[in-house]
Amino acid sequence: MELEQVIDKRQSIIKIIVSGIIILTVCMGLCMLHVGDERHFIYQLSEAAHFKELETAQQTFQHEVGKNLQIVEETAKNLSNLGSVPTDNMIQQTLHPQGLAGEFSYFCYVDDKGSVYYKGGHRDYFLTEDVLKQLQMQKADSYITLYTMKQEDPGKPRPNQNTNILFVAPVLTQKTVIGHIVAMQSIDLLFNASVYQNIIESGPCFMIHEDGTVFFASSENEIIKGSDYNLYEGLKRYSNQKEDSMDEINTLRKMMVRQDKVTGHITFKTSQGENTKVFFERMEMLPNAYFISCFDESLVTQGMHPLISRTILLCTLIFIAALTLIFIIWVSSKRSGDMIEKMAYEDAVTNGKNVNYFYKKALEIMAVNSETPFLIQRFDISHFRYLNESYGHSRADELLKGCIQLAEEHFYEKEVCVRMDSDQFLMLMENDGRVEPRRESYVEAVNEYARSIGIKYPIRFKFGIYQVRKHDKDMNVMIDRANLARKSLHGDEKELKAYYSDDLFAQVCKNDVIESEMQKAMEDGEFQVYLQPKWDIQLDKINGAEALVRWIRDGKVLAYPDEFIPLFEQNGFIEKLDFYMLETVCKRMRRALDIDEKVYPVSINQSRVLMYNPDYVNHIVKILNRYHIPEGYIELELTETIFFDDRDKMVTIMNQLKEHKITLLMDDFGSGYSSLNLLKDIPFDIMKIDREFFSETITSTTSTIILQKVAEMAAGLDIIVVCEGVETQEQVDKLKEIGIRYVQGYFYGRPIEMEEFIKQYGI
Ligand code: C2E
Ligand code: CA
Ligand code: CA
Repeated sequence: MELEQVIDKRQSIIKIIVSGIIILTVCMGLCMLHVGDERHFIYQLSEAAHFKELETAQQTFQHEVGKNLQIVEETAKNLSNLGSVPTDNMIQQTLHPQGLAGEFSYFCYVDDKGSVYYKGGHRDYFLTEDVLKQLQMQKADSYITLYTMKQEDPGKPRPNQNTNILFVAPVLTQKTVIGHIVAMQSIDLLFNASVYQNIIESGPCFMIHEDGTVFFASSENEIIKGSDYNLYEGLKRYSNQKEDSMDEINTLRKMMVRQDKVTGHITFKTSQGENTKVFFERMEMLPNAYFISCFDESLVTQGMHPLISRTILLCTLIFIAALTLIFIIWVSSKRSGDMIEKMAYEDAVTNGKNVNYFYKKALEIMAVNSETPFLIQRFDISHFRYLNESYGHSRADELLKGCIQLAEEHFYEKEVCVRMDSDQFLMLMENDGRVEPRRESYVEAVNEYARSIGIKYPIRFKFGIYQVRKHDKDMNVMIDRANLARKSLHGDEKELKAYYSDDLFAQVCKNDVIESEMQKAMEDGEFQVYLQPKWDIQLDKINGAEALVRWIRDGKVLAYPDEFIPLFEQNGFIEKLDFYMLETVCKRMRRALDIDEKVYPVSINQSRVLMYNPDYVNHIVKILNRYHIPEGYIELELTETIFFDDRDKMVTIMNQLKEHKITLLMDDFGSGYSSLNLLKDIPFDIMKIDREFFSETITSTTSTIILQKVAEMAAGLDIIVVCEGVETQEQVDKLKEIGIRYVQGYFYGRPIEMEEFIKQYGI
């Protein structure tokens, strides 16, 4: 895996984690908000409900107590209605049956002397002296009062157990109070009624005296525990004596003592930090008594527990769902990303990368390694068409695949090699000073591979190379320049690599000019035939000539063949030029023959490109016939490179020419690719030994021997030998010695304009 992919993967994981954390935080935040809102809402609801319960409880209490007072009053009224001091008997009849519906624990008549009458006879005194005194004082009114029973253990009163309500109603005779009906009811009994259950359950509640004394407590609770049953003390302890809370509790006390509010509440914080509300409601029928109920926030919190756990569960589920969703999206987007990348960056033929990838990757690499010198190479396989046709497409594709695989093995990680299309490759290579050997070893490996898959034909690449410059940014320009260098190479060149240079660019510009002008130059007759003599050194006289083209403008040589022939071979214009040269020579030769001028054989250069014209042989024959050129007067000069492409086809063409008795000359023998086999297979009449071979080697003994052997072999095959590029007398002497008879070179004459030549030698 490439470093970049690892980084990509890590980044994706980090992204997922970060999104997970964000989602979790958002989920949690929302949950908290939700729980907070719910809590507040529920708190408010509960508080309102609690207050309502308190009111209901208070009203019920009033109602119950009122009802009981009414019973007591009615009994008093019945006694009063007798109109006289009631007798014992009357009292017995009138008294409310004690314990009716379990409501009263005592029900009695107390006369103004303090004697107490019960239904069914005397009972123990339950009334204290204080009460009796009060009866004496509040003679004419009926009233209700709280009453604590005397205890055997004279400790503090305990709420509930011995707190009672006393109902008192006067008995009158002629507007004079003669006694009282007194009834007692236990508070505990009163509160056992189910109607109080709601308020009792929703928090501790108390009945207190304004001084804080607790008469009744709904339960043994935290507030009054250990407080000597004083509510204020209890609350203070419960609030942990905090200053704020103390203020609130004192306010509560003041409000009660002043009795200026029928109802109200205070709020303070408990030692656990929970808000507690204490509601109070004055008991209208019981002077100085208040109904108190406490509402604790913790109750809501406790009630909220199931909600909180449900919310957390929901939140976790949402979180997991969100994570799963992200994961699924990530996996599928990664998958489709991979597919898109595969489609966008893969080459179907080689399974390697394609040119899109190259554009992206090469620029990235160059940006990261800005100090490294790079080369952009555009290369292709010479004669790939031949490979395709000879070995089939699948084998050729296998070779292309091999080229990519071997490139991966041979080149550095920061080098990229891709196939563009057909046999065209593109490569980014580090110019590390070992470029040549690395490239050579690559070519060597490809050749080895080709052999391993049965391709015997040597694989030669044409490398067009561009040295990336400091400020190059446009990849298209760089590739175009490499391509320009590649195009400057020609199939038969020995060294199949070319570097882009400004000179090359100038050359290309020049080529553009040539291309734009060649057609007109042809029409204007700017291409002219120059002839160079071939010499018979035995007889020391002219023996023939080679036609060489010159581009003449305004009487001067505008360009030599080397400057435009390769270009014409590329653009196909060479065909026109070669036929033009042949026709011009034939035309002039015909005139010479017609006017009986001296005529020598003339050889015409034929480019290999011409051989691809299926009508080539016909065309040549047509021209020769048109001018009735006698046999042997026109020789065709061909280089052996024509046999590179399709040897069998070329041999057929050569044989067809031969059938028409056309003289064939093998040009540039010994220039590098010569194969002696060719001489056996093709019916050449003449072979021309290349001037380079000749000039470099003529002086050495070995080359003299080689030349001798070549001459001998040629003689054996009945082939005439011509030596090109003879420039000195010494060379002439050597050739004479070897036994070579015909030469061509500056020593005997430079190529000159045709009419000039005729003037000098005849034709
Ligand atoms: P080539 O066919 O090998 O032609 C011989 C070249 O060697 C000619 O160059 C000629 O001027 C040069 N030469 C002759 N004797 C000597 C000598 O003693 N010393 C040296 N140094 N050079 C000598 P040129 O005319 O510039 O032609 C160059 C090449 O251009 C030719 O090589 C031939 O391949 C091609 N060419 C010329 N004319 C035509 C043409 O009409 N058609 C085609 N297809 N190719 C042509
Ligand atoms: Ca030639
Ligand atoms: Ca030649």
